[in-house]
Amino acid sequence: MKKSIYGLTRDQLIEWLMGQGQKKFRAEQVWDWLYIKRVQSFAEMTNVNKECLQILEENFVIQTLKESVKQESADGTIKFLFEMQDGNLIETVLMRFKYGLSVCVTTQVGCNIGCSFCASGLLKKSRDLDAGEIVEQIMKVQFHLDQIQKEERVSHIVVMGIGEPFDNYKNLMNFLRTVNDQKGLAIGARHITVSTSGLAKKIMDFAEEDLQVNLAVSLHAPNDELRSRIMVINKAFPIEKVMAAVDYYLEKKNRRITFEYILLKDVNDHVEEALQLAKLLENKRHLSYVNLIPYNPVDEHGQYQRSDEKSISAFFQTLKNKGINCGVRMEQGSDIDAACGQLRSKQIKKDKDKVKVNN
Ligand code: SAH
Ligand code: SF4
Repeated sequence: MKKSIYGLTRDQLIEWLMGQGQKKFRAEQVWDWLYIKRVQSFAEMTNVNKECLQILEENFVIQTLKESVKQESADGTIKFLFEMQDGNLIETVLMRFKYGLSVCVTTQVGCNIGCSFCASGLLKKSRDLDAGEIVEQIMKVQFHLDQIQKEERVSHIVVMGIGEPFDNYKNLMNFLRTVNDQKGLAIGARHITVSTSGLAKKIMDFAEEDLQVNLAVSLHAPNDELRSRIMVINKAFPIEKVMAAVDYYLEKKNRRITFEYILLKDVNDHVEEALQLAKLLENKRHLSYVNLIPYNPVDEHGQYQRSDEKSISAFFQTLKNKGINCGVRMEQGSDIDAACGQLRSKQIKKDKDKVKVNN
């Protein structure tokens, strides 16, 4: 099966085409057709010579994803369900904010981290997405925007869909380089956020990268006993290790880090945990932001409920009083954000009946 050419970064495309006896400027033309003019077939690359087009056709395709469902909500959020070449389904979400258009991408089919509250973790990982399949999610959304002709562009990306991005590190990095490329989509690194469940070693690798992409760490609990209960990954990477990696990252990058904290009713939402969290972040207050996420209930995880308003605001206020930068993910956004990566097969079936199927 031919792979999408979106899987090559600009440098890789140049190297590959030069290896095929083509000149560098050809690769640059092809790149321009792909990301600036955004054609959907090689044949449309009219200033590229026949020989080069033939090599491309023989080795790559442009698109591999088939849109199977597109669900638009009243506030402009659009959920796309794509079928990949092997039949696997992945989810991509476009969200509209005051500051721009943000796309949430999937990086794996399922997730092996298996957090106890998460729908994605219900399905064991069946495979990693390759870089092309991740880039193509952005392209598909951009094609949609191009089609409705509002001259809108994807300005922000959150890597918070299905999967653990740092468990698919190489493809993640190639994806980030491609979407960030100044001669292509040019989505600013500072407008991109990668969220990890806390794979400490990879956080350290990420600190070494020359990209200024934002990092979010899913903490969800301020002590090991509680964190291990809700995230088994804490046994491999306990809080101390995660925090050591975070400190390393902060030292290298001097960039603010976001800590995600899902509020689970009566589990991790007491004032006591807020105080513990404030203590944990005390020495990095100036470079921390805590994102409090009201839990989006998942049928299969009936043991958890969303915290009530009173607990949420007490938790928030406790952090504030201790000088911790924090915010609560807004109510209307919370459904949408949490739904990002949370579509399950059951829901997919249900949705298919409800919405327009574009095959
Ligand atoms: N695997 C990565 C990125 C994908 S999950 C990670 O865990 O960080 C993105 C975010 O959505 C994480 O903070 C995750 O904890 C959160 N999330 C997962 N299930 C959720 C749910 N049911 N309600 C609210 N947030 C959820
Ligand atoms: Fe995987 Fe993230 Fe879900 Fe945990 S929260 S199971 S790491 S997708």
